[in-house]
Amino acid sequence: MIIVMKKGASASEIQDITRKVGDLGFKDHVISGETKTVIGCVGSGDKARIKALVTAAGVESVFPVSKPYKLAARSSKQEDTVVDVNGVQIGGGACVVFAGPCSVETEDQINESARIVKNCGAHFLRGGAYKPRTSPYSFQGLEEEGLSLLAAAREKTGLPIITELLSPRHLPLVDQYADIIQIGARNMQNFSLLKECGKSNKPIFLKRGLSSTIEELLMSAEYIMSEGNYNVILCERGIRTFETAYRNTLDLNAVPALKQLTHLPVVVDPSHGTGRIDLVIPMAKAAIAAGADGIMCEMHPNPEVAFSDGPQSLNPDHFKQFMAEIQPFVKTSGKVFPS
Ligand code: PEP
Ligand code: MN
Repeated sequence: MIIVMKKGASASEIQDITRKVGDLGFKDHVISGETKTVIGCVGSGDKARIKALVTAAGVESVFPVSKPYKLAARSSKQEDTVVDVNGVQIGGGACVVFAGPCSVETEDQINESARIVKNCGAHFLRGGAYKPRTSPYSFQGLEEEGLSLLAAAREKTGLPIITELLSPRHLPLVDQYADIIQIGARNMQNFSLLKECGKSNKPIFLKRGLSSTIEELLMSAEYIMSEGNYNVILCERGIRTFETAYRNTLDLNAVPALKQLTHLPVVVDPSHGTGRIDLVIPMAKAAIAAGADGIMCEMHPNPEVAFSDGPQSLNPDHFKQFMAEIQPFVKTSGKVFPS
């Protein structure tokens, strides 16, 4: 059940409702929007009595949510969720770029990547310190050293950093360094990891699983939100299909479909979504035209020697071109590109 508070409802009215929600056997989730506060009531409490709260002070409406995901559903919160990271807003009217190498490899490599990403106008530096590789013999990431190199690159450039968390064991460490925690496609349904992320106060960047449906992606977001972390960013990064011409099939239907179903920001990753540098720019443009709130893109100072995902990583010149070519699409889609 969802309780929408009136515009300007007081803190004590909100507190009074959350207490009543608890008394009726529900867990309350207070989600504060720009104009209104919404209280998600999750659990198997007394539905009839909660509906009666519509007459309580400060309450505008009370209604059930028919979707299996409740807190993530657009029907429970009409206005877009805007995730604020050090003053950079993700969602709402902006379109932002997350860029950097697949893996943090060396101090020089990440510093050079950060410098290029910053100079070209991207908003976040990405880089994996814990890498989910298909082969146990492939480079697994620099782990804590990689996190501290990312943090040093943030110091130098001012770019907030996003990096992947692979295991609940590493959460305290990753949480300490990252501005945004990425959950990769392979872990989208690692429910114990999702629950731990729900206890973090860092935004979670949740990538769609390789063979997951839109509803499964939203249920995974719900896992995080149900633990109290409402700052979830969804990412379409391509799915497995019969097609072998590219690494994955970038499902751009997901963008407008997700926008209808959820208030959470939706980002597209055309690097993993295609696996091919020649497809990254056209698919980034298409993603923005479809309404994406951001693009994640792999960029390496020298992709030929990259430890991972070289074939899909843009080189610095190509990345500069990417940044220049996507901007008119941001404008056409009615969004702003934060400077
Ligand atoms: C990555 O971002 O480098 C990555 C491993 O992505 P995904 O989980 O989408 O494969
Ligand atoms: Mn990668």
